[in-house]
Amino acid sequence: MLYTNNTEKLLGLQGVNVKKIENNEKRVLIYAELERKKQKCPCCGESTDKIHDYREQTVKDISAFGKLIALKLRKRRYRCERCGKRFFEENHFLLRYYRMTNRLAAYVIDKLRDERSFTGVSREVDISVSTVIRIFDLVSYPKSRLPQVLSIDEFKGNTWGEKYQCILTDPVNKVVLDILPKRYEHYLSSYFNGFSREERSTVKYFVSDMWKPYSLVCDSWFRNAVPVIDKYHWIRQVVWAFEKVRKEEQKKLSPELRKYFKRSRSLLLKRYDGLNDEQKQEVNVMLYYSANISRAHWYKEQLQKILVLNDPSAAKKALIEWMDDTEDSELPDLKYCANTLRSWSAGIINSFFTPVTNGFTEGCNNKIKVLKRNAYGYKNFNRFRNRILHIFSHQSA
Ligand SMILES: [Zn+2]
Repeated sequence: MLYTNNTEKLLGLQGVNVKKIENNEKRVLIYAELERKKQKCPCCGESTDKIHDYREQTVKDISAFGKLIALKLRKRRYRCERCGKRFFEENHFLLRYYRMTNRLAAYVIDKLRDERSFTGVSREVDISVSTVIRIFDLVSYPKSRLPQVLSIDEFKGNTWGEKYQCILTDPVNKVVLDILPKRYEHYLSSYFNGFSREERSTVKYFVSDMWKPYSLVCDSWFRNAVPVIDKYHWIRQVVWAFEKVRKEEQKKLSPELRKYFKRSRSLLLKRYDGLNDEQKQEVNVMLYYSANISRAHWYKEQLQKILVLNDPSAAKKALIEWMDDTEDSELPDLKYCANTLRSWSAGIINSFFTPVTNGFTEGCNNKIKVLKRNAYGYKNFNRFRNRILHIFSHQSA
């Protein structure tokens, strides 16, 4: 033996005898073989010491000291004297069929926990992208258990034949539970049908946006849960309605005024009370030039006042009044909006009584968007799902 046991320890590969080490600028090549010992025949279980032949295999390992490391492994094939079977010696550090060490595969899998692409990781470890993907396919995440607060939302995927994919999270413990390829009622129903009634009954809050299938699913599968419409989502409806009015009105103005409106439009969305005098003046000009914007602005302001109320019961009462008033307004966009909110009022009112929101889920969606930019390797939905769960399994811990 040319090298002492220290090399073995340094390499972390137990039972390996190093014969020679070649070192060049980029790469370290380690010539090695396993200690010779009796092997058990995989066919009949008989012990044998009979070597049939040798095969040399190059095996990639994790890099060290800034260099790529490969093993030139001289593998023995044994022959069973009882049944004649020929087989390779037993080995605990190689990943079968991959020509690499287990720890290199583990390293790759660990690297894939951040948002880097398969290609990026492939470059770093000097393994082909397809092999990186094959390694990643060893990872799979089972369905999680249902939490007390279940948040459901969608993100734009535009793949797998569907425009939207669904994300399920536990916003309280900040865990991504699952990614679903579709957000239709029949799909969601069959998915939740996969959980026992007992487990479904552990869900106490069901947080979603105003997508009808979500509420249908909540009604039929989560009868114990309080439906909550995410605040951000329903407030956005009012903002959109206001913006529709503003854009429509803006078209009627002279080019100069239009410019002015475009520049100052964000002030219209802010709470008037929170503006400084100069900003208030800017808003006043806009309200002066358009009666409809002025009206819409008033409804928007009324709503914003409700949102800052500390007493949920007072907020509930005020919102119901707001819907009544707004439905009577002469602005079709706001009327329509108030009407929509009314049809979702149970879940919207619940949002005053609980602090749970889809904020965490929205944050996850933004990360998924980043991931999707490096879309290579995600034609397979399962792999995409596992990758997302892999990334968040680390970050949420
Ligand atoms: Zn045998």
